[in-house]
Amino acid sequence: MAKKETILNVDVSNETYDSLIQQLFNRMKENKQAFIVAVNPEKIMKADQNPDLKALINTADYQIPDGVGVLLASKLQGGSITNRITGIDLMMEIVREAAEQEKRIFLYGAKPGVAEAAKEQLVQDYPNLQVAGVMHGYHDDNEYIIETINQSQADILFVAMGSPRQEEWIRQNQSRLHVSVFQGVGGSFDVVAGNTKRAPVWSRKLGLEWLYRLIAEPWRWKRQIVLPKFLLKVLQQRTKK
Ligand code: UDP
Repeated sequence: MAKKETILNVDVSNETYDSLIQQLFNRMKENKQAFIVAVNPEKIMKADQNPDLKALINTADYQIPDGVGVLLASKLQGGSITNRITGIDLMMEIVREAAEQEKRIFLYGAKPGVAEAAKEQLVQDYPNLQVAGVMHGYHDDNEYIIETINQSQADILFVAMGSPRQEEWIRQNQSRLHVSVFQGVGGSFDVVAGNTKRAPVWSRKLGLEWLYRLIAEPWRWKRQIVLPKFLLKVLQQRTKK
């Protein structure tokens, strides 16, 4: 059973990579669908202002805590989420297991050529991996997109079109797609293809990715200012209880 905690009325899954992978591949065997959405302080704050977005997130099957801010919030409200699960790391774990269990993946999204380059990198890393197909994220004909994915007989679909666009697209089309696992992965294809660099390992281990980004891309401070606001709101809600 999926374990969850609620932060500012948004559900957040409390899982480890192992437990999540096990649940996803078990569901696949039972022909059940699973929709994974990554949540971070920015998304939770947006959802707080936008009931549609909140419903979209809360009706997904797994809301992975992507961002140390979510872990801090859990701690502040006396919760127990201590495992961060990032979108890209989960994607890589799913890919590894898919290669192992001979499940087929499909990469949909990013600029023309990027999904193809990501595929080449993944196949190099996992020679047994079956990539059912790739498609860039700028097609207009939705019927063509659905048909292409269904014809590929993919078991797992990664959608890289940014948030919340990718989650909205998954929700709108999920029932027509013969796919078991859906994950919105943002800019991950660009990272796998080597076009965008991830923050260095030291900063990720220390939970200081935000600090690295702030120094490397100072113009992001406007996006980061949301973190203290978010934590304050979590504290205020706790004192209200
Ligand atoms: N993208 C796309 N189709 C669109 C708009 C965006 O495929 O119509 C892709 C874009 O090329 C990029 C990704 O979506 O690869 C967005 O990544 P971003 O880092 O902005 O997403 P985030 O992780 O911040 O949600």
